[in-house]
Amino acid sequence: MLRQIMLGLLACALPSFAACAVENNPQIEAIVAGISPQRIEARIRRLAAFHTRHTLSDTSSETRGIGAARRWIKAELDQCGREAGGRLKVSFDTFMQPASRRIPQAVEITNVVAVLPGTQAAALERYYVVSGHYDSRATDVMDAVSDAPGANDDASGVAAMMEMACVMAAQRFDATLVFMAVAGEEQGLFGSTHWAEQAEKQGLHVSGMITNDIIGSSTADDGKRDDRSVRLFANGLPALLAAQSSAATDGFAPRARKELKAITQSGGEFDTPTHQLGRYLKEIGERYVPGFTVKLIPRPDRFLRGGDHLPFLERGYAAVRFTEPAEDYRHQHQDIRNDKGVQYGDLPEFVDFSYVAQVTRVNAAGLASLALSPAVPQEVGIEVSELENDTSLRWRANTEPDLAGYRILWREPGEALWRYSTDVGKATRHTLKGISKDNFIFGVAAIDRDGNSSPAGFPRPWRPN
Ligand SMILES: [Zn+2]
Repeated sequence: MLRQIMLGLLACALPSFAACAVENNPQIEAIVAGISPQRIEARIRRLAAFHTRHTLSDTSSETRGIGAARRWIKAELDQCGREAGGRLKVSFDTFMQPASRRIPQAVEITNVVAVLPGTQAAALERYYVVSGHYDSRATDVMDAVSDAPGANDDASGVAAMMEMACVMAAQRFDATLVFMAVAGEEQGLFGSTHWAEQAEKQGLHVSGMITNDIIGSSTADDGKRDDRSVRLFANGLPALLAAQSSAATDGFAPRARKELKAITQSGGEFDTPTHQLGRYLKEIGERYVPGFTVKLIPRPDRFLRGGDHLPFLERGYAAVRFTEPAEDYRHQHQDIRNDKGVQYGDLPEFVDFSYVAQVTRVNAAGLASLALSPAVPQEVGIEVSELENDTSLRWRANTEPDLAGYRILWREPGEALWRYSTDVGKATRHTLKGISKDNFIFGVAAIDRDGNSSPAGFPRPWRPN
């Protein structure tokens, strides 16, 4: 009986999307429950104990420097993969980075990459990437010798990524997951740039990328504590604008010009694939981690700052960044020292391990949901052949064998989140009677038989040929 009521509600054209009863997926609940603050703490402490993980630091020592750190990360992930049945494939992604402003001479940079292949033929070439950067820095960004424990920046993000890889390695997902610890972030986002560049060259279909950078502290510099929220920076528009003005005739640039035209014609400035990813991660994260708030901020990153998701954004991929609610700059990019009773340095004692675990759960729920769901519907269009006060939407049929149908979502302009929805079964065209396209923002999501839903696709103006 209860199930009937729930399913009835699911199909509702409801006053509030959040109020529409959507059953939680037990597989995602189990993943979220499996995230361990103790393992996260142990890994953050271990990473901080390599003294420095500076990109230009020693690579031969077994106890100090970035070489020892990456061998340890790989060994840990290898062990998790073995214990989970051997499907998690861990490797080094090594390349030569030429000399540049923060690289005095060419240096070898290595990312640690763990891939969990998807298990559904129609979805396994769809990739979702989650990263943290394992390099660290002291006050002087060129100082490769001084202690730079980088417990928060960014052992927290690396430990979150490792915990997700280890908890999810035994599970099966439709799409492919990539767990990455990248290097060279502090010197210029080199590790993530290299991986994103290779992905673009190989034509990899990266449907979403999340970086976790500085997710370790719940205490602001004024001492205020907030362990119930995380910031999520998500905005794909600046990357589209930048690509549009490039002279390139291949790659992202021509796509960006087309996309921007459709967006500006139809009020889609807050509905790029990156915005949809952010909206989705907030909705799923808050659903699976009750009492925790994902603060969605429509900027690519903190004010004029950057992180490892930017190289993905610049290549046309949907990419977002998680960061703690308020940073304490005494514990970021600082030499370890005590100055007039104030302790400086990015030390493990300033990390809130339970808080990192909460952010990891938000990530894990979102990633698992993305990788279990069908792809975002393609060629979503809003019919503009007639002047009318109804709204007719159409889209190309998805190909997943477990597809159950589609959900149309809409909201008032200016609202951040979807407010209304209606499920329309396997139709690929639907008219919303009395709901004018002039007055709402729309999206179409695909749903599978277990109720897993994709992020929404934003409709372009559609005219019959
Ligand atoms: Zn960082």
